[in-house]
Amino acid sequence: MPDEPQRSDVLTDEEWELFQAHIHRFPKAEVCPVCDSTVWSVTGLEMGTPVVDDGVHTGGVQVVTLICKTCFYVRRFAWLGIKREAAAAAMTGGRRG
Ligand SMILES: [Zn+2]
Repeated sequence: MPDEPQRSDVLTDEEWELFQAHIHRFPKAEVCPVCDSTVWSVTGLEMGTPVVDDGVHTGGVQVVTLICKTCFYVRRFAWLGIKREAAAAAMTGGRRG
C-alpha cells in the first residue's frame, strides 16, 4: 500500500481537494505533535462535539478527523469553516496557493 494519507470514500473529490488545500496552508497541521510523524489516516465527515453558538445549541459541527498512523493521536478540523473559507476565496477571485 502507498504510504500516504488514506482518503475516506465519504469525501467527494471536491471535498478532498478543499480539505487538502486547507491543510497545506498550515504546515504544522500535517505534523503529529506527539510523535512528529506526517502520515495520517483521514476520515470522512462526521458529527463532532455539540457546540453552543450565541447561546443556541446547534447540535454539533461536522468534522474531518485525522488519525496519526504511528501513535494514533487524533486531530479534528471543523468542516463548516473550511467550506466558508473556500466560498470566500471563490468570491474574491478563486483559491490561492
Ligand atoms: Zn503521532
